[in-house]
Amino acid sequence: MKIIETIAEMKAARLKLKGSVGFVPTMGYLHEGHLSLVRKAGEENKSVVVSIYVNPTQFAPTEDLSKYPRDLNRDLSMLEKEGTDIVFFPSDKEIYPQGYDTWVTVDKLTKPLEGSSRPTHFRGVTTIVNKLFNIVRPDNTYFGQKDAQQALVIKKMAKDLDMNLKVVVCPTVREPDGLAMSSRNVYLTPEQRKGAPVLYKSLMLAKDLFSHGERNAAVILGQMTTLIKKEPLANIDYISIADTETLEELRTIEKSALVSMAIKFGKTRLIDNLILG
Ligand code: AMP
Repeated sequence: MKIIETIAEMKAARLKLKGSVGFVPTMGYLHEGHLSLVRKAGEENKSVVVSIYVNPTQFAPTEDLSKYPRDLNRDLSMLEKEGTDIVFFPSDKEIYPQGYDTWVTVDKLTKPLEGSSRPTHFRGVTTIVNKLFNIVRPDNTYFGQKDAQQALVIKKMAKDLDMNLKVVVCPTVREPDGLAMSSRNVYLTPEQRKGAPVLYKSLMLAKDLFSHGERNAAVILGQMTTLIKKEPLANIDYISIADTETLEELRTIEKSALVSMAIKFGKTRLIDNLILG
């Protein structure tokens, strides 16, 4: 496994790779969710490139950039075991040199949900992912359904900008009690961790109501809210039932819907989602 820290070396190494390249961008502190993407990339490609970069431009000044968990050695040994070919681990200076001034934005799709709580987040995501795509030039790239809006935004960017790659979205990997795996779960106190499966429980409630014929979004959201409010440490940032492609809020679910939420436990903000139908 090669570990590469500069853009020039990454581009040179890319030129030597024969056959299809699968790429998994991450912010490190890896868990089974990340590894599921790495495995999928391995199944579908000749070579696998994983990036580890905590991208400062997708964090607002009030967010957890400096505290974001990091453990490079652990990440590298996990990736080595998965047979990763190249780990790209650039510095901030390498990615955003002095005078850096170019941004990529997806407009409408980034406004609701995560965008309404984190208005500068997606501009950072699309810019770094675009840069990483230009550096790594993957054939296939792998994202998690856990970040449903991010996956849609990246797909839209790739389509609108005619990128020569396929965006593959992989299912959310969960802890045995249903909590979606996330690098941020380590922030939770033991008490908060006990309450955190309420996100998944509320999604299961939505699924159950939907499978019994409920199609009124307000009714489903109302019952989910009641359930979440029973968990004293949980504070709702948003809960939404939206169109799976445009992310516009739905009143009535016709065929399918994205149920998504952000819930805060103290300062830790957890997100989760499920597609109905
Ligand atoms: P991050 O390191 O949080 O930026 O995540 C890197 C990639 O892993 C993104 O495409 C995420 O959607 C994906 N990911 C994170 N958590 C999970 C999970 N629990 N299941 C599946 N994919 C995940």
